[in-house]
Amino acid sequence: MSITVPSNVKPSGGLVYPAIGELPAIPAQPKSKRAKKAPAADTLNLVAARVGRAGLVQTVYIECPTSWCAVDHLEWEGALEDISHYSDSDVVQLNTLTDDDTGHSEMYVGISMDPVASDPRLRAAHVMVTDAVGDAYLTPDMADEYADELIAFASQIREKARIARLSNKAGR
Ligand SMILES: [Zn+2]
Repeated sequence: MSITVPSNVKPSGGLVYPAIGELPAIPAQPKSKRAKKAPAADTLNLVAARVGRAGLVQTVYIECPTSWCAVDHLEWEGALEDISHYSDSDVVQLNTLTDDDTGHSEMYVGISMDPVASDPRLRAAHVMVTDAVGDAYLTPDMADEYADELIAFASQIREKARIARLSNKAGR
């Protein structure tokens, strides 16, 4: 059996809005100045960098994804091919109740880009996850997938905490 719902009725049976054509015109809104200034996500800008080896350093201009790169390329000195771009990192720390002084482990996440990497996925902006084992490199799609797994994992942490808390209450 099929029911024909008029286009202006929400399936939930809740509020009924006028059909699109009946909506009053929305006055033009002033455009945000901030949005105008924000750089396009893929913008590469020329920035000064110090290149060379000790005593033989010169300033050159390199392309840098300035919308997220946090490296001061004038402060760092080294070979041109060793220049990479890194964002600021976020960190999550794991503590253990058996050691009040030192965290058990940490995990960092940031964005990086290596302009001369042989793998084109490393030449592109990618997500870098770092722990005690080392660096893991993720394409944006891999990072999304990993984030979904972490969200599910975090839910399991809460569930285990809930069960442990209930167990402690029952035992007293
Ligand atoms: Zn940079």
